[in-house]
Amino acid sequence: MISKALLDLAAELSFDYLNTLDSRGVFPTDAAIRALPKLGGPLPESPSDPSEVLRLMHEAGSPATVAMAGRRYFGFVIGGSLPAALAANWLATAWDQNPGLYVASPAVSVIEEVARDWLLDILGLPPAAEIGFVTGATMANFTCLAAARHALLERAGWDVEAHGLFNAPPITFVTGQEVHASVLKALSLLGLGRERIVRVPVDDQGRIDPDQLPMLDAMTILCIQAGNVNTGAFDPAPELCRVAHDAGAWVHVDGAFGIWLSAVPSRRQHTAGFADADSWSLDAHKWLNVPYDSGIAAVREPRHLRAAMSTSASYLIESDHRDPYMYTPEMSRRARAVDIWAALRSLGRSGVADLVDRNCRQAERFAAGLRRAGFEVLNDVVANQVLVTFGDAESTLAAIAAIQREGTLWAGQTVYRGRTALRISVSSWATTDDDIDRSLEAILRVARRVE
Ligand SMILES: *Cc1c(COP(=O)(O)O)cnc(C)c1O
Repeated sequence: MISKALLDLAAELSFDYLNTLDSRGVFPTDAAIRALPKLGGPLPESPSDPSEVLRLMHEAGSPATVAMAGRRYFGFVIGGSLPAALAANWLATAWDQNPGLYVASPAVSVIEEVARDWLLDILGLPPAAEIGFVTGATMANFTCLAAARHALLERAGWDVEAHGLFNAPPITFVTGQEVHASVLKALSLLGLGRERIVRVPVDDQGRIDPDQLPMLDAMTILCIQAGNVNTGAFDPAPELCRVAHDAGAWVHVDGAFGIWLSAVPSRRQHTAGFADADSWSLDAHKWLNVPYDSGIAAVREPRHLRAAMSTSASYLIESDHRDPYMYTPEMSRRARAVDIWAALRSLGRSGVADLVDRNCRQAERFAAGLRRAGFEVLNDVVANQVLVTFGDAESTLAAIAAIQREGTLWAGQTVYRGRTALRISVSSWATTDDDIDRSLEAILRVARRVE
């Protein structure tokens, strides 16, 4: 029997971790990283007390983590974990459900349906669409594009799941010049080839220029972006979807973080038209602030997703209910929809809108402060992304390194249209306006010193 004291200890150490994150540097110290080998050594020959394992993990592991769960981590596009989602994740781990089949876990099958319906509702996607709960947007892109591959080749009389791509009619993949690397990875995994794509020129924010689209046809997948990973910009979806659908093409949306703007009534002008697409990939572990890993693959016509992901065996007892493994690449996996359910149940419609809207306003606050100080912000701040330079590439890199070392915040670097920039992404439920001001103060102080 597991002891309550052990679970209490886990709660106590977790609370201690989260509660002290704010008073340490966002990136761990060299000393903390150097102490990590304490976790290693030879494999223990015999059992030890679980509470000792946990204490060792906290003592040697916790200080060496990056404070991504904290309030001033602005690297990549990484949210924290909402209290309800983190706590639900613990309980779901105690459940230890394998949600592949309804007969394996009726509870998680039903929770997936609830989470699916709430997600489609809050994102304004077609209510009859189907969702697979995958690890992240990379796998969501893979899953959605597998559904697209199925649909296009089925129409051409080819059963790709049975016969593969050898001798299949070719599929053309069209996307913007600034396609996300995860889409290229998905294409290579799917046998569609990451160098066979047709790249459409984009404007200065990375948006596809509809006038430059090549001829599309019924064997084309057009991949568009809701949220450019650098600028946060949105492709002009209404026009792109119309042109593509007139030609019989499939439209896939890489909407990892940007599509969440659909949940904010005052910001929906940016996501207008994206719901007209055929499939959407997004992350819950980014802007919905659930624990890793949590991605969402949504497909307008459920049968295409099912056809691409299904398999069968005599021992796999299918039911009249939702059998979750029919919508994901995995069979066994964690019950990640529980975290999504808890996040949506605790925030409600207005809470999700407030979270996303607040982060967008905080990005604007960042940009305004940086501009006021005389630094150049490279992008139109339409979502949660801010790109700022501190002079030429060399000075900018020096400033970024110094900002990262100083520790008040952490943000990464990028090169956008030939310009080296600090890339700030505001994605956490925990970030306050005061955190933006503290971070701005640190950035300006350090950047001026480096200058
Ligand atoms: C983050 C991101 C991805 C990849 O998502 P993972 O969750 O890391 O797999 C894909 N596309 C865009 C636009 C992203 O921002």
